Amino acid sequence: MSALTTAFPSEIADDDAAGIVAWAGRTFGSGLVLTASFEDPVLVHLVATHAPGTPIVVLDTQYLFAETKWLIDNLHRRLKFPLEVFHPAADVVPDDQWQFDVEGCCGRRKVEPLARALSGRTGWITGIRRVDGPTRADTPIVQFDEARNITKINPLAAWSDEHVERYIVDHALPRNPLTERGYPSIGCWPCTRPVAPGEDKRAGRWSGHNKTECGLHVSPVQNPTAKN
Ligand code: SF4
Repeated sequence: MSALTTAFPSEIADDDAAGIVAWAGRTFGSGLVLTASFEDPVLVHLVATHAPGTPIVVLDTQYLFAETKWLIDNLHRRLKFPLEVFHPAADVVPDDQWQFDVEGCCGRRKVEPLARALSGRTGWITGIRRVDGPTRADTPIVQFDEARNITKINPLAAWSDEHVERYIVDHALPRNPLTERGYPSIGCWPCTRPVAPGEDKRAGRWSGHNKTECGLHVSPVQNPTAKN
């Protein structure tokens, strides 16, 4: 089946994340992968439960918070999913690049390792949600990323913060400790600060720079046959 003609079944509701993940598992099989930021445990738990055996990728930029690493280890022990960790090509990357070139740093520490992580895959599950901020407000459930030649599945696109909170409580899952310290969006420690009440959820990412996305989720082309 061509990725471009992969139809998403209309009977699965936009907010049925478990149904979306299970559909992705059936459709893409061993070609499916999840890239996870471990900002929260929800999508990792959904994928480990409803598409078991799907590799879960961590892009270890070298600058992950200790709290994020703790959550990765905790969930990995608990759920026993296949964990794949991708590192930057450290021998060619200056380790202070984030101080003077955030675009270049993200390119070398996130975008290039992502390309390796997605190589040979056909389906890519991500955790992006419409409520993350204005740049993600139109996120569809399924889209085709032409630049990367892969179908992208966003099972949580329609989920609110309340959905996430209810899932964590219902399944007694551990949280990233930074969440309770004012970090609603969590990336690398040099480029993430807590946000003030009323600020946009992603206002703490690359604060002070004209940058809102790391480059992982830019310019995908939506599959015209897929569900919005
Ligand atoms: S978020 Fe900051 S530290 Fe992390 S890869 Fe991007 S520029 Fe580098």
